[in-house]
Amino acid sequence: MYQEAIEQAVAHYRELLLSQVDRAEKMNNAQAPEKKDKTVIGIVGGDGIGPIIVAQAQRALEALLQDEIKAGKIELRSIEGLTLENRMAVGKAVPDDVLAAIKECDVLLKGPTTTPSGGTMESANVTLRRELDLYANIRPACVPEEGIDWMFFRENTEGEYTLGSKGIELPGLLTMDFKVTTVAGTRRIARAAFEFAKKNGKTHLSVVTKSNIMKKTDGMFSAICHEVAQDYPDIQVDEYFIDIMSANLLKPSLRSTFQVILLPNLYGDIITDEAAQIQGGVGTAGSANTGDRYAMFEAIHGSAPRVIARGMGDYANPESIMRAAVMLLQHIGMPDKAARLAAAIDQANVNAPITGTREGCTCAQFGDAVIAAL
Ligand code: NAD
Repeated sequence: MYQEAIEQAVAHYRELLLSQVDRAEKMNNAQAPEKKDKTVIGIVGGDGIGPIIVAQAQRALEALLQDEIKAGKIELRSIEGLTLENRMAVGKAVPDDVLAAIKECDVLLKGPTTTPSGGTMESANVTLRRELDLYANIRPACVPEEGIDWMFFRENTEGEYTLGSKGIELPGLLTMDFKVTTVAGTRRIARAAFEFAKKNGKTHLSVVTKSNIMKKTDGMFSAICHEVAQDYPDIQVDEYFIDIMSANLLKPSLRSTFQVILLPNLYGDIITDEAAQIQGGVGTAGSANTGDRYAMFEAIHGSAPRVIARGMGDYANPESIMRAAVMLLQHIGMPDKAARLAAAIDQANVNAPITGTREGCTCAQFGDAVIAAL
């Protein structure tokens, strides 16, 4: 009864496998990018609260980088059109003209983008991560008073996300999705995490998988991380399964011992929101998506449609995207300006606290406080 559907699924699977072989081979043959004299920072508003919070981060960057902008070393370039309306109108997660404009930039500061549930529209983020080959998702979480200083390195282009919109369905009977892990993809995220640890004096790295269940994909991820670890004998490596790691982040006697945490895509997606909540909520957390050529910096949260629906968009917290701007400045080689912005955000949290209610400060008032503290 299902013979025809099975044959179609097998043909579909063959196409998927060939596409992944092609992707893996491209990674194996990747060349180092050329160095450039000028850095173009693309500013993308996104959906929902995105344009509201991004505007404040843009103000801070304009204030901090005014000399470099005048000297032509840095350009802040607004990229329009990555909105849900436009994406739905052209039926593409990232419209071609927007993608072309983004590829003219070096780094992006991006507001959150809405992904419609169901249907076949891919997330704009998943598309951008793939198109720009942003393989490392880097998210810090700090709670100094509890000795927490974590840096998560989440693999950003593989696992369940590579073929997330390309699963198989035998209607009325079953559905199947696919998880993909490549040798090159794992090696490069492991290398990025160990290099970060080495450069930042970290001595402890935790690999997190579910290799007891996902034996092929997570099993290989784990094996390659341990292989890369051989080049970093001063870094102590341990390994946890994702379920117990989720508990360990809440365990006071253990959690302050973690430093760098290296994980495949889906586990990293989930556990970094837990980490952000421990830090003070998703509205406080920024993240970097980096590759060898491009990098994209964003808040870890989404477009907060409920905040907009309640008419509270102006009270959204821009701290997340401003923390992302701190990471952007570090990435483009400006650690002093990054530290100034981080300190100004800390100060704004004291002078212009956001509560998410009308009693607290607005997003723009928080932005004013950051500019005043710079
Ligand atoms: P969400 O992150 O948008 O919201 C989760 C909760 O956090 C909500 O209660 C929201 O009110 C609150 N919140 C988030 N950011 C805030 C801020 N800066 N200030 C104040 N409150 C804030 O999660 P969701 O509702 O699951 O997702 C909404 C949409 O965003 C979905 O379409 C989803 O696909 C998309 N999304 C996009 C990204 C991205 O672009 N990087 C990431 C996650 C989700």
